[in-house]
Amino acid sequence: MRRRRLRIAFLALPAMLGSVLIGTPPAGADPVESTSTAGSAHSHHDHPESAQLVRIGLTGADMLDKVVDAGFDIDHGLKRVPTGIEGEAVVTAEQITELEAMGVRILAEDEGFEWPEEADGGFGAGAAAARAVQPLSHAQTVRVVRADWFTTKGQGFLYVEARTTEGQQASPVVMMQLENDSGQGSSFGFARTMSRFVDSGQYMFHRNLFKLDTRPSQIRVTSSTGGVTTGSVSNWLEDAPPPLTENPGYQYDFIDGYKHPQQLFSRAEEIARQYPDIAQIIYLPNKTNGYQRKAQATIGGTGQAAVVVSSAAWGHEGGNDVTVEFVERPGADLPLTVEVAGKAVRVLLAKNAAGALASTAAEVAAAVETGSQGLIDRAHPYRTNTGTGIVVPTSGPVALTDFLDEKRVGAPEGEVPRGPATVPVLRIGKHRDGRNPGVLIQAQDHAREWVPATTTLETAERLVRNYKTDKDTKKIVNDTDIFLILSNNPDGANYSFYNFASQRKNLTNHCPDADADPARRNSWGVDLNRNYRVGSAHDGYAGGSFSCISGTYQGPEKLSEPEAENIVWLVEEYSNIKFMMSVHSNGGQLFWQPGAYIADGRITTPRPPMGDEAFYWQSASRILSQVKAYRETVVTPENVGGSSDVLYSSAGNVREDLYHTYGIYAFGWEVGGSIYNPATGNWQGGSFQPPWAGDPALVSGHSETMEYANGIMEMFRIAAEWGKDKKKPTSELVPGGGKYSGPVDVRFETSEPATIYYTTDGSRPTLDSPRYESTDFREPGQVFHVTETTTFRWFSVDTAGNVEKNYDPENGNRNNYRMATITIGQR
Ligand SMILES: [Zn+2]
Repeated sequence: MRRRRLRIAFLALPAMLGSVLIGTPPAGADPVESTSTAGSAHSHHDHPESAQLVRIGLTGADMLDKVVDAGFDIDHGLKRVPTGIEGEAVVTAEQITELEAMGVRILAEDEGFEWPEEADGGFGAGAAAARAVQPLSHAQTVRVVRADWFTTKGQGFLYVEARTTEGQQASPVVMMQLENDSGQGSSFGFARTMSRFVDSGQYMFHRNLFKLDTRPSQIRVTSSTGGVTTGSVSNWLEDAPPPLTENPGYQYDFIDGYKHPQQLFSRAEEIARQYPDIAQIIYLPNKTNGYQRKAQATIGGTGQAAVVVSSAAWGHEGGNDVTVEFVERPGADLPLTVEVAGKAVRVLLAKNAAGALASTAAEVAAAVETGSQGLIDRAHPYRTNTGTGIVVPTSGPVALTDFLDEKRVGAPEGEVPRGPATVPVLRIGKHRDGRNPGVLIQAQDHAREWVPATTTLETAERLVRNYKTDKDTKKIVNDTDIFLILSNNPDGANYSFYNFASQRKNLTNHCPDADADPARRNSWGVDLNRNYRVGSAHDGYAGGSFSCISGTYQGPEKLSEPEAENIVWLVEEYSNIKFMMSVHSNGGQLFWQPGAYIADGRITTPRPPMGDEAFYWQSASRILSQVKAYRETVVTPENVGGSSDVLYSSAGNVREDLYHTYGIYAFGWEVGGSIYNPATGNWQGGSFQPPWAGDPALVSGHSETMEYANGIMEMFRIAAEWGKDKKKPTSELVPGGGKYSGPVDVRFETSEPATIYYTTDGSRPTLDSPRYESTDFREPGQVFHVTETTTFRWFSVDTAGNVEKNYDPENGNRNNYRMATITIGQR
């Protein structure tokens, strides 16, 4: 049987550079070249624990939370699969052992979940055959959630989600089978078993994804308890208009390689100088905590006699000049004392009456903290040691270092400016006075994600360079107010470029002594996309960690980090910002709310009302169609929606805060990700720093930059249209009012994405009236089963705030709402 792999490994990233500005070593390898010289050599235990990228398999969200809470750097490139969650982790050899002890599977290169390519016979196969299926017995127990047809590179695919009202039932577990036809009027066949998706103990839906050569028209889903329903197949990204890049004379493809923050920021400033009519720089008010570290050393091994020292001054401000020496003097009955000469700290170790060394690590640490005349402000035993070991002398002065001069092999030329950074926002728009809808594109919250930065810069170049000559670009620039943050984490990004390629968080070290020794330095920092206020782990939501060395460490409190505070400042200062895209890599996903839940009971942050949900889907389809236009990359519908529904809960993420606090349509994007390779019939996974100029048919930084810039441009068009939208929505009750002989099922339909407020009790509808909801998440609107005469009163509001018939729900004298009476029974 031929089989298709959804994800394959991407451990080895060849450093094929082409026109790349800088070399990219294999991700996760992060070799450093020591610049230390004899006499200042720091001991081997100061080297960061060497990390590697491995593929992992988790049973589900519960295990993910446990693993993340234990401090593992696991995020992005994660995918839901029917057997749980698969992804990658940046871990040390020791951590691999720990992961395995927690039940995590380490996957080999060719290992992982695969959807069967051939139909498996559904209930006809295996144990399920015994269960009787009685079609049409109670159709309401099965609903089609979505059935999407898409093509990529000559291959068709069908993706189906369906739900049964008995899905939560534990015993027996309800099975579902899927059949499809082969076009209009043909019969159903090709039965396949669907996979049951359970998350955090809650049944989500059943699903399947498979190759098909002919587009089906209808599907049929049958449950093992006798429910059956049919549904129509929709197109996904099949009917896209051409991208702007096909406009005559349109200029694009401006980026020649990955860019570190200094390059990004100086180009942003240059653009503002070159195009002053349409561009300017806004400097965010809170400086970052800085590309800087205290100078440190771990002296005397890692046992009870070890002492960790940290300079009071930042390394570049004098900390790197400090030395610490433990000295044994001849004699007996000597006290522990500390001498300071210039930047040299000498600890004269105590001796007992017998002339033996007698200072413990705890005593030495305390003496250094108090006696170093302010050179050392933090000294402590190693990790969780209590420091009971007797300290031995050093062979000479030990030089402290901030380790920032130790460059990763392949790091770009040049010095990184030390100290706090100011983050510029490149604002592009003809009218930057608040009249137009603002769109915030925020890249690189996560340091190692290099493609989001180049994607955002490419977007800026396309806007300013085509403004005068391309009418579509002119319309965007005239009708929107664009705010581009090319890197929101410059400290971490520099660390990723120069020191540790897999750095995710910022550089702020909030760790207590137990995790503050320099071998931990690649694990410090705050996950900026967990530092916000809504759905925070501080409030019990899942997916943000309290551990300072976790990849998803949320910080000591909400908005503890200047980078997060800056975003809040920006959207409050520029209240015309109505759209936001938080650009990440590399999952091939497009997200919105809800993005977080409380694990117990899987209680999500509030779901967007139906109008917003429909608008998100409509926008996603437009944006992703433009992504597809470049080289047929398809972000599949299984990877689109509320992020906590399709991936995992990420507590305290920025999208949740901006949508719920400010009403901003806040998307999250994982650029890159799997692309279909027709040569192998497999999907190839992405990576954080793919070769820039690799095979354009495969994963490459350049191709991802081009295709996702297309998508961002479409987001601008959506915002521009939204700003001009004065068209009032219309809505209908289907079927409409009238006389019916018996109970009737009715539902609402709207002419465009819009939210309906309705009453059935005779009162006039207001914004406090019940909202028309979807049957369940990712499904169409609910169906009312009307059994007695009922009058519906309602109105609809579109996402731009236009109200149907210009009805004013706040004005009690206005009654031009919609009304329909369903009369049941004949007189
Ligand atoms: Zn990210």
